[in-house]
Amino acid sequence: MMARERLRIAVQKSGRLSESCFDLLERCGLRFRRSRDGLFCYGEGEPVDLLLVRDDDIPGLIGQGVCDLGIVGRNVLEEYAAGVGATALRSLRDLGFGRCRLAIAIPREADYGGPGSLAGLRIATSYPNLLRDWLRRQSVAAAVVTLAGSVEIAPRLGTADAICDLVQSGATLLANQLREVDCVLDSEAALVGPVSLPVDERGDAIEWLLRRVDGVTRVRGSRLLLLQAARDCVDAIIAALPGAPSPTVLQMDGRPGEVMVQALCADELGWRQLEAIQRAGARELFVLPVERALA
Ligand code: ATP
Ligand code: ZN
Repeated sequence: MMARERLRIAVQKSGRLSESCFDLLERCGLRFRRSRDGLFCYGEGEPVDLLLVRDDDIPGLIGQGVCDLGIVGRNVLEEYAAGVGATALRSLRDLGFGRCRLAIAIPREADYGGPGSLAGLRIATSYPNLLRDWLRRQSVAAAVVTLAGSVEIAPRLGTADAICDLVQSGATLLANQLREVDCVLDSEAALVGPVSLPVDERGDAIEWLLRRVDGVTRVRGSRLLLLQAARDCVDAIIAALPGAPSPTVLQMDGRPGEVMVQALCADELGWRQLEAIQRAGARELFVLPVERALA
């Protein structure tokens, strides 16, 4: 294979992760032009291209060296890892979106007294490796029925007694008269790469990309609050700030007794919170969005 100089990242072509992936990469300063066939996105400016594929193919593509990195749910990464045994892949960063859990669910009216209740049952899943590992850890012998999709209808069709499937809100389970009883894996999207990173231009690109990802995820949802106040009020104001940030208190030129306070809050800072801070003595409050951070 010809050595590539440009970094190639595999992302889900269309699905639950796609929008958040593109949003993250855009916030990391990457711009793309889509190829005609929709398989590639060519980076404009930075030497980073995307390969648009089904999420299930992402770990394999990195494993084969077709891509350097990928963005995929930990559920897919761990299922792949459990399937191939020891793996050369790892999660480089958790990304904070695509949160869900791989859960065990049983018919609403069935009893459950812990994993032992699953002994001898047929459990339908698209994650046979993770389910088998979990059953082994629980010392439970059950039959794993592997299905490619529509796992949630298996109990109603009589092809399984329980399921092991991804759950987010639980609405799908409810609609299928199932109830969640145990958790096999907590998952979220992750930036995945090889255990040993390349030591060349691509390795350099991975390093700056990780720094930018950190800069974006660190401040996601945060606001910068600026305000003025009499120095006497500062303690009360700090106590009113949500999430206990440690603010910077600045002396104001030519106005002794007056300060300016600047605080990075991991919170939206809605009107009610702002009004409470104002009641504590703050004036001239400004709430600013924070786009990125560099330590
Ligand atoms: P593809 O066509 O790429 O194979 P898919 O149908 O396997 O798509 P999606 O349903 O788009 O995948 O889900 C992608 C990922 O989103 C999942 O692997 C999981 O990590 C995450 N996810 C978050 N919430 C849910 C949910 N309620 N159901 C399924 N996946 C979820
Ligand atoms: Zn998939």
